[in-house]
Amino acid sequence: GNGLLAGKRGLIMGVANNRSIAWGIAKACADAGAELALTYQGEAFRKRVEPLASELGAHVAGDCDVTDMDSVDAVFAGLEQKWGKLDFLVHAIAFSDKEELDGRYVDTTRANFQRTMDISVYSFTAVAQRAEKLMSEGGSMLTLTYYGAEKVMPHYNVMGVAKAALEASVRYLAVDLGGSKVRVNAISAGPIKTLAASGIGDFRYILKWNEYNAPLKKTVSIEEVGNSALYLLSDLSNGVTGEVHHVDAGYHVVGMKAVDAPDI
Ligand code: NAD
Repeated sequence: GNGLLAGKRGLIMGVANNRSIAWGIAKACADAGAELALTYQGEAFRKRVEPLASELGAHVAGDCDVTDMDSVDAVFAGLEQKWGKLDFLVHAIAFSDKEELDGRYVDTTRANFQRTMDISVYSFTAVAQRAEKLMSEGGSMLTLTYYGAEKVMPHYNVMGVAKAALEASVRYLAVDLGGSKVRVNAISAGPIKTLAASGIGDFRYILKWNEYNAPLKKTVSIEEVGNSALYLLSDLSNGVTGEVHHVDAGYHVVGMKAVDAPDI
């Protein structure tokens, strides 16, 4: 390990399995010497997350569904009791009805719009609110976003609107928490085949398109996102807040996409 997070304690929310971006981040943090706590969403994920947590010597901070504020409060009450303080927080949570991650954005229902915004946007503010109280010595908060916040991506629909709001939240939170030496940033990750991504229509095509058109001619891995997260969570980035950092093999800088993905 590199010791970049030695002596630091962090909460990581959003591990579903070993393909989760949150898992890539957790591995990088554990390797850097951090003490970790992981939450899982519902009983079904407990069996997946418990062995992963023990692999890293991480504490399981319990079942947390961000639509249930009592379960969110319980996680922070547990951490306050166990650790008394928190140095960093990772929020890798998003949800939208699969039915609406296909077809046209204009057909979004009010119910799914509200649910998508609640789980994918408000939850970051809700956990930031609670984590701030435990970050008495300052800290770093990180969320995950996608290019669909900036430009229209096929099938991303209401999730793109939610990510735009999430990125705006990062900036507002950075101002609110800056005085307490708490930094707030986002990583805009390129497409990665995870459980959440399996809900997005034509995802294989999107992966190929990125591979052919990104400057680095590849898609990114959860380990690469983890390494960039390590920079944002550690003191290496003490001068950085309110930032949306792209970890996308450079895809976002390309104006004119040159190559169509061959037959897939
Ligand atoms: P994932 O399916 O592994 O993780 C999504 C997590 O969200 C799961 O752990 C799930 O339990 C959690 N979640 C959903 N609803 C919840 C709720 N109500 N309460 C608590 N947790 C809830 O997929 P992932 O791709 O690793 O997603 C992590 C983050 O990365 C998401 O914000 C996603 O939008 C973002 N992201 C993903 C990609 C990609 O291509 N995979 C690209 C850019 C950004």
